Formats: sequence, C-alpha cells, structure tokens
Amino acid sequence: MVIVMEKGATQAQIDHVCDRIREMGYDVHPIVGVERTVIGAIGDERGKAKLQALRSTPGVENVIPILKPFKLASRELVQRRTTVRVGELEIGNQQFVVMAGPCSVENRPQIMTTARAVKRAGAVILRGGAFKPRTSPYSFQGLEEEGLKLLQEAKEETGLAIVTEVMAPHDVELVARYADILQVGARNMQNFSLLKQLGQVPKPVLLKRGLANTLEELLLSAEYILSQGNPQVILCERGIRTIERYTRNTLDLSAVPLLRELTHLPVVVDPSHGTGVRSLILPMAKAAVAAGADGLLIEVHPNPEEAFSDGDQSLLLEQFEQLMRVIRPYVELEGRQL
Ligand code: PEP
Ligand code: MN
Repeated sequence: MVIVMEKGATQAQIDHVCDRIREMGYDVHPIVGVERTVIGAIGDERGKAKLQALRSTPGVENVIPILKPFKLASRELVQRRTTVRVGELEIGNQQFVVMAGPCSVENRPQIMTTARAVKRAGAVILRGGAFKPRTSPYSFQGLEEEGLKLLQEAKEETGLAIVTEVMAPHDVELVARYADILQVGARNMQNFSLLKQLGQVPKPVLLKRGLANTLEELLLSAEYILSQGNPQVILCERGIRTIERYTRNTLDLSAVPLLRELTHLPVVVDPSHGTGVRSLILPMAKAAVAAGADGLLIEVHPNPEEAFSDGDQSLLLEQFEQLMRVIRPYVELEGRQL
C-alpha cells in the first residue's frame, strides 16, 4: 500500500502514520518529495483492510494499493528515477556510465594493461571477475582474494571504480571490502540467501537478469535486496536463452524501455554476454544507448586469444576505444554525456 500524505501534512502527522503502520506489522518506507510525502507500507497483503482505515487519519490524502507484485522497485511507489552513487559517479542520471574490463582477473599485467586502456578510452568503472561462475567445474574458477587485490591495485593507480561478482553469501563481506559495486551473476539471480545478504550491505549491487528469467522475476529479485534496506540496485540486461544458436544469448533490448516503465531503478546493458559474438557488440551497444540504457558493461582483454574465460566475446583494447568513439554521438543524441 502507498499512503499519500496531504501537501501541507506536518512532520508529527507523518510520524504518527509511520507509527501506526509499524504497529500493524508493516515495514515503513517514507519517500519525501518536494511537494508531499508518500509512505510505502510493505508486508503481508492480507492486512490491507486495516491499512485502508488510515484514510481517515489526519494529514492523509489517500491510501492506494500497489498492484505490482514488486513494491519498492515499482514506479507506482517511486515515480522519480533512482540514481545510484558510486564515488563521484551517479548511475541513472545524465552521465552514460561505461563499465569495462576482462571477464576474469588473470594476473597483474593483464588487469593493469586493461584498466589503463579502458580508462584512457573513457570507461569509469573497471569490471573483472575474481569469483567466476563457470558452467564446468574444470574451468578456471577465478583468483578469489588475490584477484580482488589486483583490482584494488588497478583502482589505486587509475581511479576507476570496481565492479566484481560475488557468488556466495559467505563471500559477501570479503568482496564488499574491495568492490565499489557487487555483481550478482545471471546464474545467481534467484539465489535468495545471497540477495538477502546483499540487502544488508552499504554498497550498490549490479543485478544481472537470469538466463531464463522474466522481467517480473528480475524485479522481484531486486525487491529482495531493496526490502532488506539496500536501495542501491542497478539492473542489467545480459541476454536470455532462446532457440537462436548463432548468438550465445538473445539480447532482449525491449527490456530496457519496459524496465524504465516498470521501475525507477537504473538499467545497464551487457552486449558481451548478450550476444557472445565480438562483431555484434558495437552495433548492440549503439542500440542499447538508443533504447534508453543508463550504461554498458563490456568485456575487454589485451589478448583475447589467451583469455582464461570469454575470450571470443572480448573486445581488443583498440576495438573498445573505437566503440567509445562511435557511441559518443549516440549518447549525446539521447541528451546524455559519456
Ligand atoms: C560475467 O559478467 O562475466 C558473467 C559471468 O556474466 P553473467 O552472469 O551475465 O553470465
Ligand atoms: Mn564473462
């Protein structure tokens, strides 16, 4: 339910409504706007009638049910778009944010060379997996904490923020010590223990859409993080499984404008996993800009032939630089800056 306060409602009236909602066993999520305050009451749907009675409380204008199954993520509750802050950056605002780097952190020269090159080309966030979710248990699993330390070194030298994946609840604390943004991979989108744990962390979360998940499921996964108290969620469209075999996944770009209608959370696009084909990354990056994405996540490697993972879809350093040059006018056409 959303409790809409009157324009001139006093702080005492707002506090009273919040107290009443809590007494009824709901979580209170007040949103203070320029004109008025709205209060989200989140909890068991069965107590709706009691909340409706708040309509007669002084200072309350209206009590409106949220119809979507996801509440805190919904635009019904928050009309204004959320911006997620990472240091000086604001994801979901005017700046179009490019995150780039290798699939896996492999060694110092690899990550440092990549970090310097993507920074020079205009990326603002360095990606790189230290914990890797691999389809086969025999594939490279990541350098773990050693990888996180290498990311930190790259950050110290270049000033790039770090996005890196966390796979298990027991690693959240460790990864959060090094990462500016914690990535939840496609395979973990419905790892609910992990999501709940990430709801307790004071760091932004990049939540990737699952290989076979609907947008409603994606938003309900975001809701797990939001409802635990972490409002800093960035959604990522990274392609879904379809019958098509020429691409690794089918990049669902209609998800971008649709998510912008359904949610106030920022949305970025990963054309690397979304297509799995190097030659398709630039055209799909342009299309993502036009679809209204807030940023891109792109795999880049100094020597893709020798990459430990996802070499086939990784751009060479100069290809990434070219991509940045090509997308700039498209970004500007959308009224944003790179
Ligand atoms: C990745 O970003 O390297 C990754 C494993 O992505 P996804 O979870 O989307 O497959
Ligand atoms: Mn990858």
